[in-house]
Amino acid sequence: MREIAYQRATQVRDALTAVANDAGARYLGGGTNLVDLMKGGIEQPTRLVDVRRLPLDGVREHADGGGLVIGATTSNSDLAAHPEVRRRFPALTQAVLAGASGQLRNMATVAGNLLQRTRCGYFAQLSHACNKRVPGSGCAAIEGIHHNHAVLGHSRHCVATHPSDMAVALAAFDAVVHYETLDGVGEIPLSQFYTPVGDSPDRETLLPAGALVTSVALPASAVSPRSRYRKVRERASYAFATVSVAAALDMRDGEVRDARIALGGIASRPWRARSAEALLRGARPTPERVRAAAEEALGEAEPLRDNAYKVALAINLVDAVLSELAGTENDR
Ligand code: SF4
Repeated sequence: MREIAYQRATQVRDALTAVANDAGARYLGGGTNLVDLMKGGIEQPTRLVDVRRLPLDGVREHADGGGLVIGATTSNSDLAAHPEVRRRFPALTQAVLAGASGQLRNMATVAGNLLQRTRCGYFAQLSHACNKRVPGSGCAAIEGIHHNHAVLGHSRHCVATHPSDMAVALAAFDAVVHYETLDGVGEIPLSQFYTPVGDSPDRETLLPAGALVTSVALPASAVSPRSRYRKVRERASYAFATVSVAAALDMRDGEVRDARIALGGIASRPWRARSAEALLRGARPTPERVRAAAEEALGEAEPLRDNAYKVALAINLVDAVLSELAGTENDR
């Protein structure tokens, strides 16, 4: 039996100080991922600093006008149900509701969702080599069971995917993560928040040590109201994405003024397909153009031995979502 100190913080500075003073401390939000990892011995914190009572809950209008600010401890359920999120960023609501179960969404926080760890089975089993868990130990997935691992953005050191649905929609909408440390406040665009795998898969984000995520800002957007999130998974009840797509189109006079495409379930981080978006801007979204954009989105894919199916699946899913948004799904 190991002892774990528990404290409930009511001020951000108290939480930051508690974590700064104990190298083994972890912030505790809803605990829907961290507690599971503790049960398996993957995480062994000496102190849990409960952040659920911090004044970081709720969704509000951005002070600069336009856009929303989502408090870090807002529950996934409250985020999905917020009327302005539903109206202005429907793909975000759809993404959140596609993740986990109602009970888990009631507990899980926005920051916890972004910072959840991969569900690679080898990461969760101490008996297997895993560079993400123990740097330099190897990667059991590369020659092992990897049909649901990455086809983009992986390295020979790790081929795991990021499990968040919410982060995929946030990536499509150019969200910005705000954080605080004892030295002050900072912000990181979500597109840069998750670090490329490279040779250090144990390092997953650009957050400074001890930083506490305080909010996520969603800039005002003409493209976001016409958006969709679709997810393919291995079973109808809750499961992590095999492939998912968050897409949005802003149309004027039959042409695409702006397009957003982000993919989940295929890389170590939400995968924004900017070159595919560029193929659509200023063009009529004909079936041929949409198909070309979908193929471009997966153009750099490097599937593993057993997951080439994901490339075709992702192309078809991007094609289907864009066609639905463009209103051309019956034109082929
Ligand atoms: Fe670990 Fe990544 Fe390899 Fe999975 S894919 S075993 S998380 S190093």
